[in-house]
Amino acid sequence: MAISPLSKNILGLFLRKVCPSCGCSLEEGELLCAWCKLRIDRCSKAHWSSTGTPLGNPSGYMEAGVTGIPVYSAVLYRGLPGEIVVRLKYKGEKHLARAAAGMIMRYSTKVPAPGDILVPVPAGRKRKRERGYNQAALLSAKLASLSGCRSHDILKKDDSPSQVGLSPSQRRENVAGVFHMSGRCRVPEGANIWLVDDVATTCSTMDSAAGVLLDFGAVSVTGLTLAYRKRTADSIIHR
Ligand SMILES: [Zn+2]
Repeated sequence: MAISPLSKNILGLFLRKVCPSCGCSLEEGELLCAWCKLRIDRCSKAHWSSTGTPLGNPSGYMEAGVTGIPVYSAVLYRGLPGEIVVRLKYKGEKHLARAAAGMIMRYSTKVPAPGDILVPVPAGRKRKRERGYNQAALLSAKLASLSGCRSHDILKKDDSPSQVGLSPSQRRENVAGVFHMSGRCRVPEGANIWLVDDVATTCSTMDSAAGVLLDFGAVSVTGLTLAYRKRTADSIIHR
């Protein structure tokens, strides 16, 4: 009897020998199958959160006259990563968070070190209720277990319209002032903090969220996403 791709994925959760993306059989120790890996393009450049422009200086912080934080993305959105983001974010396929975290650790030019703190970019209360989860928090938790870091959900977000379809300036305006410290949470002292999200486009969400952490005493904040999506690339149409 033929096994459907869905059944293969469910089976994979127990056997861990099928590709989490397509359900075909997987070599021992591999994250994705050879076919899926062909559909991944590494993102070679980090971007400034304040401008969305590429970092000229790979070491980050000292670039003169530029504010904001460096945002590292592991892969480009096009191809498989975009499909994984859509399935994780809109189709309820939470199991893909593990593969997404694995892709970050394997492909990002800079990754968290043991002892660093991961902070997921929060979703608004309404969005989280509709979806039942925040994909950035799932990603952050999986990343924590792979990197030896801790994931702290210390930010909260006001409900704001989706960023989808907005121009860069509208995106910045849309997320300005929507992030806050959650309850009585504090920024961990002296820690390297990584803001974790699924996708960066203009980096405006990262910039706004990082601003809160820096205002509340963070000394080192770096952005980290699975995918970097150019605004001209295929757009996210699902909601
Ligand atoms: Zn595959």
